[in-house]
Amino acid sequence: MKLAAGLNARDCTSMRAGGRLTSVYAAETTAELNELLQRFISCRILGGGSNTIIADGEVATPVICLGQGFATVSHAGEILKAGAAISTPRLLRYCAEHGLSGLEGLAGIPGQLGGAICMNAGTGGWGILEAITELELVDQSGRRTIDPADLGYSYRDGQLPHGAVVTAAVFRLKQAEPAQIEAAIRANLNKRSGQPKGFSSGCIFKNPEGDSAGRLIDSCGFKGARVGGA
Ligand SMILES: Cc1cc2nc3c(=O)[nH]c(=O)nc-3n(C[C@H](O)[C@H](O)[C@H](O)COP(=O)(O)OP(=O)(O)OC[C@H]3O[C@@H](n4cnc5c(N)ncnc54)[C@H](O)[C@@H]3O)c2cc1C
Repeated sequence: MKLAAGLNARDCTSMRAGGRLTSVYAAETTAELNELLQRFISCRILGGGSNTIIADGEVATPVICLGQGFATVSHAGEILKAGAAISTPRLLRYCAEHGLSGLEGLAGIPGQLGGAICMNAGTGGWGILEAITELELVDQSGRRTIDPADLGYSYRDGQLPHGAVVTAAVFRLKQAEPAQIEAAIRANLNKRSGQPKGFSSGCIFKNPEGDSAGRLIDSCGFKGARVGGA
């Protein structure tokens, strides 16, 4: 369904800079998503907008978001299934409440599950795809499930097939005491307490092997540099 009013970049990205998306569609079901992907051969997928910068001015490229129909989560034993539109903080809260360990490395990372999978988001050397056993994808030809091991994912790059949208993921987690999981989450959040506050795209830069993007940016004198609103 098309959002009549479109979206301002400041309302849908953590950078809060950029222009206006004039052609935004929200898919609530796999069938709707498939129909939109068939209709718009060239389109963009927007998750939580925490790793996205939108150009200035009016942007007419069709943008597809996943609606609440994809923000589901449930588990049986140590197997958890979540929809791609669930926010990563909510997913982590669910895991802590139900004593499911394995995703504590997502602590402090904003956005949605689909975006996290696309970016193979995580902390240190760990990325979310390591905890996933099955991915549900939708593209122009329909819905399919894949084993993420077949993607050849790497550091902060999920290597999703071209044109594929993640709609859900199945995780294999480990049962643990909720208090233990919460302590691990708190410890990870504490490690971030020195990071800059305010609107940003957070860890948008990849760390090169053996160094940190933040240190390199600082040493070039680029910390705080601005181009337009970004
Ligand atoms: C304060 C802050 C801290 C951060 N810390 C970290 C960190 O520690 N580690 C880290 O890895 N990242 C970090 N990030 C970056 C970002 O939060 C993650 O990469 C996040 O997982 C992106 O998710 P999103 O839903 O916001 O993605 P978006 O910005 O919406 O999209 C990112 C990419 O994913 C694609 N995408 C989105 N949804 C789907 C989908 N369902 N199917 C297919 N493709 C999709 C988009 O098309 C786009 O290419 C941080 C960002 C901020 C603002």
